[in-house]
Amino acid sequence: MSIDDEYGLDTLAVRGGQIRTHEGEHSEPIFATSSYVYNSAAQAAARFSGDEPGNIYSRFTNPTVRTFEERLAAMEGGERCVATASGMAAIATTCYGLLQQGDHIVSSRSIFGSTVVLFNNFIVKFGVDVSYVSQTDYAAWEAAITPKTRFLFLETPSNPITEVADIARLADIAKKHHCLLIVDNCFCTPALQKPLELGADIVIHSATKYLDGQGRCIGGAIIGKETVVGDAIYGFVRTAGPSMSPFNAWVFLKGLETLRIRMKAHSDSALTLARWLEAQDCVEQVNYPGLESHPQHELACQQQKAFGGVLSFLLKGGESGGKASAWTVIDNTRLLSITANLGDAKSTITHPGTTTHGRLSDEAKQEAGIAPGLLRISVGLEDVNDIKADLARGFKRLKT
Ligand SMILES: *Cc1c(COP(=O)(O)O)cnc(C)c1O
Repeated sequence: MSIDDEYGLDTLAVRGGQIRTHEGEHSEPIFATSSYVYNSAAQAAARFSGDEPGNIYSRFTNPTVRTFEERLAAMEGGERCVATASGMAAIATTCYGLLQQGDHIVSSRSIFGSTVVLFNNFIVKFGVDVSYVSQTDYAAWEAAITPKTRFLFLETPSNPITEVADIARLADIAKKHHCLLIVDNCFCTPALQKPLELGADIVIHSATKYLDGQGRCIGGAIIGKETVVGDAIYGFVRTAGPSMSPFNAWVFLKGLETLRIRMKAHSDSALTLARWLEAQDCVEQVNYPGLESHPQHELACQQQKAFGGVLSFLLKGGESGGKASAWTVIDNTRLLSITANLGDAKSTITHPGTTTHGRLSDEAKQEAGIAPGLLRISVGLEDVNDIKADLARGFKRLKT
């Protein structure tokens, strides 16, 4: 099916991109092959010269990976998707594909910890400057842009404090200054938010999270216009090799089939849990875009179909000595998994300050809202009452 087909998201999620071999298999096969054979020397030459389209080597193309790419491109409403070995590989590939010495990028401060490390420790080594701004300060975004700025980068809602940025407004700013807008759509997925429709140029995914949905595989993807993604970005993947494995692509294909149904269930439970957390004595603040108390609640209602499965909350006294309280809550859980992963059917609990964002400086943590007493929960598909009970056990142990 091509992306021109006017099918709904659920249909694309189940059938998009599928090809059938002469075996007539119903389910998508895993093409576990590193290379491909030709009928003749002439055909081999034509494939290598590009005169004849077709597979050459699985670092370049693989039918299972291509099915995943076409399905996700259709779901995001993009012309082209390039799959990568991880979410970080997707971000690094985007940088290596688009940037050159002397360029500049503007990024939200509230981004995934490894993305900050990638920008600050590696991308800068190639003579690229990075400026950070507050996610929701649009004047600061615009002020940070220079004639050398190649792209603006953000995640919305952000990790872990769920700040929501206005994608359409940032897309206008990017267009005005002739740079690209890149949105890491990991938290929402196309089931809840379509940044390309709002004017973004590139969408990035860590497929590891909700696209898989069961915490099995590492993978990533880059989606956008053929002119942007098909040339420089695909060129980097096929040459440098951060390509997705066909097995992982197959797992993600199965994940996409149930994506919208899972995102609705994650969102319903997360809203229930967020409301319950707001009513707890030991909780100072709950960060979840679905709450009326969230500073960008109205924007989230317009921009997203639901509010997603990730929330964070700050324990009382959590600004200073809160680490001990946060660890008490974590160490009294029996059900929630103590892990840094998110987007899993299993609920997970994380202390961002000492794990996912542990490598940030104290100043950077403060700017990103990572207080010592902050806990992040990725609300899974379990019974939400069992999740509440698991947290309540730790809350009872806190001195308030
Ligand atoms: C996990 C994550 C990444 C990195 O993805 P990997 O698959 O772990 O490499 C990037 N962005 C966000 C928002 C993430 O949550």
